[in-house]
Amino acid sequence: MEGVFARGDRRLSKVIELAVSKGCKFDAWDEYFDKGAWDEAFKEAGLDPKFYRRERSYDEILPWDVIDIGVSKKFFINENEKAKQAIVTQNCREKCAGCGAACFEGGICHE
Ligand code: SF4
Repeated sequence: MEGVFARGDRRLSKVIELAVSKGCKFDAWDEYFDKGAWDEAFKEAGLDPKFYRRERSYDEILPWDVIDIGVSKKFFINENEKAKQAIVTQNCREKCAGCGAACFEGGICHE
C-alpha cells in the first residue's frame, strides 16, 4: 500500500474516500489494517494497485512531474543509474552535483 500511494496519482483520492467510508483508519497499524476493505475500495474505484507498482520507463510522464523544485529529471535519472551501480554522489555542500535546485547558503554551487 505504501508503494501504491507513494507512486500513485490523483485517482487514488477516490480509493481513499471509499476506504474511509468502509471504516479504514490507522492503517499503518497492523491490527487496524483491513486489506479486504482496501481491495474493495480499489475495485469500486476501477483501479488496480499493481498498475502503480509496475516498473516505469524514464520517458513516462509521472504524476509528480508537475512539481518543480528546480531539480532536473535528467539529474534524477542519472542518480538512479548511479544508485544501481552503488555509486554515491558526493555531498553537495562540498562539491555541487549540478542538480538544478537552489544552492545552500555559502555553498559552492555552479548552477
Ligand atoms: S549545491 Fe545546489 S545545485 Fe548543486 S547539487 Fe547541491 S543543491 Fe543542487
